[in-house]
Amino acid sequence: MSAPASPTKPEDLRRRLLAWYDRERRDLPWRAQPGETADPYHVWLSEIMLQQTTVAAVQGYFRDFITRWPTVHDLAAADLDGVLTAWQGLGYYARARNLHKCAWIVAAEHGGRFPDDERQLLGLPGIGRYTAAAIAAIAFGQATTVVDGNVERVVARLFRVRDPLPGAKTALYDLADTLTGAHRPGDFAQAMMDLGATVCTPRRPDCARCPLQADCQAAAAGDAAQLPRKAPKKKRPVRRGVVFWAERPDGAVLLRRRPEQGLLGGMMEFPGTPWTDEDWGAETAAGHAPIPADWDVLPGRVVHVFTHFRLELTVLRGTADGGDADGVWVRPDEFGGYALPTVMKKVARHAIRA
Ligand code: SF4
Repeated sequence: MSAPASPTKPEDLRRRLLAWYDRERRDLPWRAQPGETADPYHVWLSEIMLQQTTVAAVQGYFRDFITRWPTVHDLAAADLDGVLTAWQGLGYYARARNLHKCAWIVAAEHGGRFPDDERQLLGLPGIGRYTAAAIAAIAFGQATTVVDGNVERVVARLFRVRDPLPGAKTALYDLADTLTGAHRPGDFAQAMMDLGATVCTPRRPDCARCPLQADCQAAAAGDAAQLPRKAPKKKRPVRRGVVFWAERPDGAVLLRRRPEQGLLGGMMEFPGTPWTDEDWGAETAAGHAPIPADWDVLPGRVVHVFTHFRLELTVLRGTADGGDADGVWVRPDEFGGYALPTVMKKVARHAIRA
């Protein structure tokens, strides 16, 4: 790795960053006010939600969740479908399922109290290294090293690490670790995140406003906006599938539940073929039809991009009298009551438009 030197004393850097945080901290619905203790349930819930989207997008979901389920006991007792439905739009439904499972374990096995130790937190569903460290620091004042994308960027610039991500991750974590201290560790973690989100931003770091400017090697070298470097992304593979929009004469459409394990586990979908690398021929696809019907191919395709692949779906529409189908018949104006992932909402829009 390109040899970074230490900035000025870590305690000096921490002191300046905390002073900045006391003036500039973002007011977020899950954050404790200065002098208050953070609620571990709020910290955990917000951190799980923030794993996949922005602070701006999460605030509404967070408020909605704590209104519906004010405590971890309430969330543990909630119906999984209700949780998945409330999660709609946040993506990565496996996380919502793990959220529910984690709430259940905390309620049933820990008396409703989150463990205060990073190692024990790591043993809970849906809690990885970053989230465990964040909860331990923010909710319990443990001196953990909390490194998210914002912190990676700040550290890469501060130490002018020029090796690209993701290869540089371990080095950035180790460098962040040299800055961790026992004084106000939760505030320090949040200060680093806030600095990355509001000042040390990806394209235009506002170094003139930064409390760490005197320490920052990239600011001194003038290449902060180019860091951290990123290794070129691999092209996403394409997968293809066929979806059956099976409609009854009264307008109800057939939905079924996806298997509990795997992508979009437990969510609802329109029946279809598996998703494969090859295009589906009409005859092979017909073998996966949920009911006997004359199937018409709708023009165009539904495209959805997942993290690891791009999905292209052809939609076939057919009318049937209901019959003996595996699933539930739901009128389109009632889809909102079912946990339909975004890709299936796109299928619905496509079919209804057609
Ligand atoms: Fe980021 Fe600039 Fe601050 Fe360095 S001085 S940490 S590049 S905002």
